[in-house]
Amino acid sequence: MELLKQRILQDGKCFPGGILKVDSFINHQMDPMLLYKVAEEFVNRFKDTGVNKIVTIEASGIAPAIMVGYIMHLPVVFVKKKQPKTMENMLTTTVHSFTKDREYTVCISNNFLTPEDNILFIDDFLAFGNAALGVLDLVEQSGASVTGMGFIIEKAFQDGGKILRKKDIKVESLAIVDDLSDCKIVIR
Ligand code: 5GP
Repeated sequence: MELLKQRILQDGKCFPGGILKVDSFINHQMDPMLLYKVAEEFVNRFKDTGVNKIVTIEASGIAPAIMVGYIMHLPVVFVKKKQPKTMENMLTTTVHSFTKDREYTVCISNNFLTPEDNILFIDDFLAFGNAALGVLDLVEQSGASVTGMGFIIEKAFQDGGKILRKKDIKVESLAIVDDLSDCKIVIR
């Protein structure tokens, strides 16, 4: 997606350890006009997959996911990183956080992820695929199915994309970063 690539090159910043900071338009301050275009692009790529629910993980996936749900008229559920005492029929799994370098127990209610659901997972970044694999585990526990996974930015030099595509999942990334070494952003 050309507009997104230009924005990453213009406003993205590299940090050591292969981290791309996009906090002026996605991760802290958010650009709703760009995120709406991002959502339209996801809708174009996934509209014929039979999706009936959008799933994301807090926090940064929520903004693009809700725009996709709005355009497609579908409900959006986000996986929570804290377990509320009041959640009914909780499903849990463990996810390693790339940016915070720690394990999280994440959860979702089986009331909102059911065997009738064909989900599209939306997230901001695909790095090593830990968040996506955690969501796949929750989907499996719930009896739901996955129709696809969409990421705003995929870092191709980390292996999440390879792992997910090997599982025969339709994975779409709107900007693919091939390299961040020497603090230079190389976009495919
Ligand atoms: P993964 O689970 O694929 O290893 O990492 C994806 C998650 O980690 C995303 O939900 C995102 O929040 C965070 N993440 C991974 N790499 C980056 C990065 O380079 N920059 C930012 N801002 N977040 C990242």
